[in-house]
Amino acid sequence: MLSFWFKIPLWQRVIAALVLGVITGLAWGPEAETIKWIGDFFIKAIKMLVVPLIFFSLVAGVAALGDLRKLGSVGGRAMILFVITGQIAAWLGLALGTFFAPGKGVDTAAIQKGETPAPNETTAVDMILSIVPDSPVQVMADVRVLPLIVFALLIGIGILMAKEDGKPLAKIFDSGAVVMQKVTMIVMELTPFGVFALMAWVAGTLGPDALISLAQLVGLNYLGCLLIIGVMYSAMIKFIAKLPVIDFFRGIIDAIAVSYSTASSNATLPVTLRCVERNLGVSNSVASFVVSLGATINMNGTAMYLGLATLFGAQIFGVDLSFGDYVLIAITSTLGAIGAAGIPGAGLIMMALVFGSVGVPLETIAFVAGVDRIMDMMRTTTNVSGDAAIATTVAVMTGEIDVEEMISADDV
Ligand code: ASP
Repeated sequence: MLSFWFKIPLWQRVIAALVLGVITGLAWGPEAETIKWIGDFFIKAIKMLVVPLIFFSLVAGVAALGDLRKLGSVGGRAMILFVITGQIAAWLGLALGTFFAPGKGVDTAAIQKGETPAPNETTAVDMILSIVPDSPVQVMADVRVLPLIVFALLIGIGILMAKEDGKPLAKIFDSGAVVMQKVTMIVMELTPFGVFALMAWVAGTLGPDALISLAQLVGLNYLGCLLIIGVMYSAMIKFIAKLPVIDFFRGIIDAIAVSYSTASSNATLPVTLRCVERNLGVSNSVASFVVSLGATINMNGTAMYLGLATLFGAQIFGVDLSFGDYVLIAITSTLGAIGAAGIPGAGLIMMALVFGSVGVPLETIAFVAGVDRIMDMMRTTTNVSGDAAIATTVAVMTGEIDVEEMISADDV
């Protein structure tokens, strides 16, 4: 029985749970609230992962650079492109969410908001001060992502500076990152149960309207990702790298297929590396550095999605957002995408962080969890295409590309 359960891929179990949950909720009505605690259990387990996942994967990512000079030349350019494209993506998600308002029209009067994080009222000076962790332990306890990222980057740089002496610690963080990915896999096994309970509760208390909103969210997620790939990456390849766009996408077709089917930037990493080096002619050092780092921190599909999903949650639960909140969402979405590991469902976990910054109820996570996989596949494809596009652009900027190899990539 148990082996039968585990033989079915997780995402299929989640979709089945979604359908069953909706049917149960519609049949059961508001009484379905009695099983909501199962969903709350799932949300708590997800929140538990945020800090250790960010901490281990970021330190391991920086330590993997191996050399401080690399951090300067190639790393500087890559980081600038990661952050600019991440910001554009987050604002695109916010624009789509504002324009199409997928969460409007859901009557949530029947829903009793559970945990609603208090919005942060911060001034610009507070914001600058908050970048520096006063106590790393406190920062972790409070799940404050910006100072946590700063602390993780500093530890990573310290490891690189310590050279041989830093290697044992680098190994520990490497192993910690792998272990955290396994722990995430364990928690993700709760998804079918959490999704079933929460969808039953959502459908039972809100009725069919909520489901139409969810379908709109999925559609907008695809639209946003296609715009990032088709407009932003294409423009970057055509106007900054000055290379033929069609050949670029033809060169990474394998990575696109693998990322869409696995929903994991990490799992796709070997394929992305091969495509970028062999089919696009990017040098080994630039490819391995930019693509490996990108798999962990460059997630434009995820940044767009976090912006969109936050507006979706705010619309569902009637949370009013000011322009300052939009700026905060754009920043935390980009940081959340940087902090997310390249594994299935990582974007879902990071929602806890973005929602918390503007007071959107965490119930939204449960609401979208059932359809997350379908959206995750597309945002992972966007993330991986972005790694390849930025690696290629940085290679052109630093003269580390063999263009002949790319243009003659007929045998891709
Ligand atoms: N699954 C995505 C990736 O691996 C991250 C996410 O969940 O958005 O790139």
